[in-house]
Amino acid sequence: MQKLDPYLNIDPGTMSPFQHGEVFVLDDGMETDLDLGHYERFIDESLTKFSSVTTGQIYSDVLKKERRGDFLGKTIQIVPHITEQIKAMVQKAAKVSKAEVLICEIGGTVGDIEGQPFLEAIRQLKQTLGEENVFSVHVTLLPFLKASQELKTKPTQASIRELRRLGIQPDMIIARADYEIDQELLEKIALFCDIEKEAVVPSPTLDSIYKVPLNFHELGVERTIAKKLKLKLSEANLDDWIELVGKINQVNRTIKVGLAGKYTDLNDAYMSVVEALKSAGYHHDVKVEIEWVDAERLEEGDLSQLKEISGIVVPGGFGERGIEGKVIAAQYARENNLPYLGLCLGMQIATIEFARNVLKIKNANSSEFAPATKYPVIYIMPEQEKIRKKGGTMRLGAYPCKLKKGTLTYKAYKTDEISERHRHRYEFNNRYKDRMEKAGLIVAGDYLDGKVVEIVENKNHPWFVGVQFHPEFQSRPTKPHPLFRDFVEACLKGSTLV
Ligand code: GLN
Repeated sequence: MQKLDPYLNIDPGTMSPFQHGEVFVLDDGMETDLDLGHYERFIDESLTKFSSVTTGQIYSDVLKKERRGDFLGKTIQIVPHITEQIKAMVQKAAKVSKAEVLICEIGGTVGDIEGQPFLEAIRQLKQTLGEENVFSVHVTLLPFLKASQELKTKPTQASIRELRRLGIQPDMIIARADYEIDQELLEKIALFCDIEKEAVVPSPTLDSIYKVPLNFHELGVERTIAKKLKLKLSEANLDDWIELVGKINQVNRTIKVGLAGKYTDLNDAYMSVVEALKSAGYHHDVKVEIEWVDAERLEEGDLSQLKEISGIVVPGGFGERGIEGKVIAAQYARENNLPYLGLCLGMQIATIEFARNVLKIKNANSSEFAPATKYPVIYIMPEQEKIRKKGGTMRLGAYPCKLKKGTLTYKAYKTDEISERHRHRYEFNNRYKDRMEKAGLIVAGDYLDGKVVEIVENKNHPWFVGVQFHPEFQSRPTKPHPLFRDFVEACLKGSTLV
């Protein structure tokens, strides 16, 4: 799968999750749009940087070639130079993935100025690859008008007209709506848009996104596509999905898990964390309800939110806001045997809390939040400081980590070495390691033979785990991540179910 994003950023790494949702990280360290997370969860494959292309990257590559003199004095233009580069990236992704079919999503809306070079490139690809090797799916929205109680097809008709003007006749329309779409409407779309009836696919909002593949299968979507692409289909094996959806339909108990992030009530900003929690829940036949814990409220001394939850997750984050509240949440979890899962920043918070309240180093902090602190229990390693220019690179992508036997983490993964994705600058400061271990902190995982602490746990606590990486990026709905799975199990043990 591949996403073509028409914005000018080279990647979404520097965009605010508030605006753009979570930044999803791949094994190779590419920072991508949250859609890549959906792709990995739906197809259960780990993708590469070739799956994430933006206008920024395309221009940057073309301009680099221009400076190198690759174009031999020609005038560089959107057509053909930008479109050629887009086509090359599409074909590269197809080749690298070794897949039989590449699903390539163009972000934005038909008619956007930025999207046009991508649509033109796709139009040309049909020329190059031949009619039977390209299948265009147009996703449209059928808005619901409350006053007349009906779904409208006019926007679909208008965008099809625009697509045709650009030289693309879609082979399939997926009609999104928040309500059931009746047959008559689908026929109307087929007629106006000149598409076979079976290729107009109703896609009403379902109560779980994981029901969508089964819905498409029932409607014969893959058969319609295979017919045009002249592909031989074997019987789809949807057993895992059927089992998952069965579980989703069956759950009738709920637990509340606290999520102490910077952005509250913002699913998109923590998409993979929320999905990993939900999947772990389905595994245990329980619905995980997310309680957004407001760190700033904790700072004001109001701990009521913590008393209503069965466990707490402190997710990744950057910047100072809400940090003190998160430290309070970690302290509350440690002292009250509340299951705690710290993800990246959440591991750093757990370390700061331990230093302050167990080792009694009152001013312990991360040099990210207190650059002048005398007690940087989290800091930038000196050797990294040298290589990294300001605003420069982070530790990104998959790194190996050795696990210590007898720990909660080892029990979860059941293996000596794991590989997890990273996205951070600061690290655990080994200067404090011995003292912390003596006081009950467990280093459950490390990288480079102990040089880099990756996982901390807590003696005398039923389930307290902080990891320097982002396990949520590798959780899949049909294969919940072991840490999330065991965290939810621990939450269940201590909770009164509703
Ligand atoms: N801000 C922290 C760091 O840069 C944690 C990053 C994160 O949680 N992804 O190390």
